[in-house]
Amino acid sequence: MRELVIGVLGFQGDIEEHITISKLALKELQFNGRVIIVKKNCDLEALNGLIIPGGESTVMGRLSIFNQTITIMKEKIREGMPVMGTCSGLIMLASRVYDRVVGETNQPTLGVLDVVVERNAFGRQRESFEVDLDIPIIGEKKFRGVFIRAPIVREVGPNVQVLSKLNDSIIAVQQGNIIGTAFHPELTNDSRLHQYFIKIVAEAST
Ligand code: GLN
Repeated sequence: MRELVIGVLGFQGDIEEHITISKLALKELQFNGRVIIVKKNCDLEALNGLIIPGGESTVMGRLSIFNQTITIMKEKIREGMPVMGTCSGLIMLASRVYDRVVGETNQPTLGVLDVVVERNAFGRQRESFEVDLDIPIIGEKKFRGVFIRAPIVREVGPNVQVLSKLNDSIIAVQQGNIIGTAFHPELTNDSRLHQYFIKIVAEAST
C-alpha cells in the first residue's frame, strides 16, 4: 500500500494527542502512513485525510479565514477527502451552529456536514465528564467518551448517519467521507475510532 498522509489541523487545541493516537492507529492497522501538522494551504496538498482537533471553534474558524485555509479545506472535503472533527472540530464541520446564550453564533465554519450543532450543550468546563459509549460501527466493546464543553448534534440532514447517542442526544455522526464526534477520542488510548477513520482514508485513496 502506498503511504497515507494524515494531517492534523494545527492552529490550536489538542493537536499532539491526535498525532499520537493517529500514529497508534496506523501501527495497529499495519498501514504505511505518516501524520503531519497542517497550518498553511501548501500543507493541505499532500493530504489523504484531515483531522480537526478539539479546542476552541471560534478561534480555529477565524484563523482558517485569516490564512485562507478554510477555502481549500472546503474544496478538498467536497471533492471527497475524508475528514474527522472532534468536539470543536465537529463544530467547524457543521452547517449551522448555535448556543443557548447568543442563539445562532454566525461563526465561520466549513459547513460541509449537514447538521445543526449546539455548542457547549453539556455546560461549562467544570461540567466535563467521562462515560462509556456504544458506537456499534467500531465494535461491541464500549468506548470511553471524554466530554469537555462538548456540543450536541440537534438536527441531522437526510444523508447523515448517527454513529452514537448518549441518552437521547446525538454525539457522533458520519456523512460519507465526513465524521464528527462531540467527545475526544484522542484523549483515550483506544484508537478504534481513528482506525475507522483511517480505513475510510485508505479506501478513498485507492
Ligand atoms: N466549546 C468548544 C467550542 O465551542 C469546544 C470544546 C472542545 O473542543 N473541547 O469550540
